[in-house]
Amino acid sequence: MSPGDHRLVMFGAPGSGKGTQAALLAETLRVPAISTGEMLRAAVAAGTDLGHRVQAIMAAGALVDDGTMADVVRDRLAADDARRGFILDGYPRTIVQAEALERLLEERGQRLQAVLHVRVPEEELVRRALARQRADDIEEIIRERLRVYREQTRPLAAWYRDRDLLVAVDGHQSIEEVAAALAAIVLEVG
Ligand code: AMP
Repeated sequence: MSPGDHRLVMFGAPGSGKGTQAALLAETLRVPAISTGEMLRAAVAAGTDLGHRVQAIMAAGALVDDGTMADVVRDRLAADDARRGFILDGYPRTIVQAEALERLLEERGQRLQAVLHVRVPEEELVRRALARQRADDIEEIIRERLRVYREQTRPLAAWYRDRDLLVAVDGHQSIEEVAAALAAIVLEVG
């Protein structure tokens, strides 16, 4: 395993803790954690064209279209710091996005090493989300985000399992325990 050479996806429902875990693992592996949600929020805050296009979609808890997301991710992965690896957080979220990512990596002569699935029971997700209170986290939006996850994103678990890339960890543990489990997996697949 060469240091920094990791191409991983952190996968899980909203509220699974995947963002926290992506950031922790990125520090350990010295590769960037790439959160598409954070990139889009930054675009909204900066008032860019992209930000204007996605603002209402995000506020409704819906998904930004796959073509826009492919452009966002292609540009980000082209940056210097992602040359030797990355942890994607919040992408892909649909099968079409997973196929686009596969093609994008193929063009670079690369493939994913693993998709790390942080699993948390649904009632715990709702409890965590209600406690979190971000601006877009009113209950109706939370339920919409979970519905979108169930219908569009969760099928990706089977899609990646078929490709022998999916590795599940129990996300219903302390942050430190989940981080340790993920680090152990990455040592194995790295
Ligand atoms: P997140 O912080 O990952 O929960 O993302 C916040 C919001 O950004 C989502 O609810 C979507 O509206 C949008 N978003 C982030 N990543 C994606 C993606 N891969 N595909 C579509 N929409 C996305």
